[in-house]
Amino acid sequence: MWLLLDLYKKMTTYSHSRISTYENCPYQYKLRYVDKIEPEIAETIEIFMGKRVHETLEKLYKDKKFKKLVSKATLLKFYKDNWEKEYSDDILVVKEGLTGENYRKMGIKFIEDYYNKYKPFDQLTILGLETQDRMTLKDGNQWHVRIDKFACDNKGNYYVCDYKTNASMKDQEEADADRQLAMYSIWVKDKFKDAKSVKLVWHMLAFNKEAISERSEEQLEKLQDETIAQIKQIERAEKEKDFPTHITALCNYCGFKSQCPSFKHQIEVEAKEDIKEFKEDDGVKLVDEFSEVKLKKKEIEEKEEKLKSDLIEFAKQKGIDIVYGSNMKAGVKEFDKIVMPEDPEEKEKFIKLMKDKGIYEECSMICYPKLNSKVLKGDIDKEIKNKVQIEKDFRISLSKRKDVEEE
Ligand code: SF4
Repeated sequence: MWLLLDLYKKMTTYSHSRISTYENCPYQYKLRYVDKIEPEIAETIEIFMGKRVHETLEKLYKDKKFKKLVSKATLLKFYKDNWEKEYSDDILVVKEGLTGENYRKMGIKFIEDYYNKYKPFDQLTILGLETQDRMTLKDGNQWHVRIDKFACDNKGNYYVCDYKTNASMKDQEEADADRQLAMYSIWVKDKFKDAKSVKLVWHMLAFNKEAISERSEEQLEKLQDETIAQIKQIERAEKEKDFPTHITALCNYCGFKSQCPSFKHQIEVEAKEDIKEFKEDDGVKLVDEFSEVKLKKKEIEEKEEKLKSDLIEFAKQKGIDIVYGSNMKAGVKEFDKIVMPEDPEEKEKFIKLMKDKGIYEECSMICYPKLNSKVLKGDIDKEIKNKVQIEKDFRISLSKRKDVEEE
């Protein structure tokens, strides 16, 4: 039974996209891969356009396989017809001032440029288009291999090609650090023993340029180990059900916003009919009141500091040490306090001296924030970790809503 369970666990199929989802936002990973919830938005316009461009270039090479060179006009018609057939109004356009039509035209330009650059498309022998395969990683998990265009030349070089419709050009450093295609290199080297080299090629369609990278055996070994370490972290998160949200600019493109603890309330209150209904929401009332109290507290603390220094000044001028009010009196006493060396080198010497003189233990305190962080990160001796308990608590932080304009 355990053996079977173990085997089942090891059958999980990971992919670059699955791991990237976890890296970008563990909570989104949970919704997508653990709870298997469908996103509430159909898709973003960037993904939609990418799909239409990919299927168009796939058609180009599929026809070519049958010695049919499709014309540019036919290819563009294919793209435009598919766009029209598949487009729906619920596709999300995030970038302000742009519409689906802008993206449709971008796709047309990408296809035209690619066609003009590579015609008659016989530079390489195509081995596969939108390939679907799996490889087994060293830890027993599976890795999904999906290559847009897989090709070779007659010199034993293999090419893993990816079409990118991104608006930013991939530089060499990025290409050399990319995990997605490099992982496919492992698959190619395993399947095609005659491979002299595996070149990773990104067709950066928005720039009509290519980014190319190649990895050594050592680099691939290291990459696989790092990927497995990341998978282990995901497995730990799944076991401990630990999936925090991670708010970044990518949240604008997230299809799970209404189910996300960090945005659910925002979506709820924004759906309110009018400002009165909005202001009556219990959450809105609590935050408004809380921020007001915090502001007042800050003002009072500042005022307290100012009064203290005024009292000291008053007492000094008068040569007194008690100042009398209507019902209360304030004692103003001067006292001595030590100032520790601030220079890090001097501070270190001072601490060493205290230790040498045997008074360090007596005079030092445990640094709670440091200990807390070390225990929670597992960056501490196990025996110490086992001596403390971990319990849940809440921290409330107030920050400005960036989506609300100042009045
Ligand atoms: S909206 Fe942002 S924080 Fe929430 S699940 Fe999506 S990516 Fe994560």
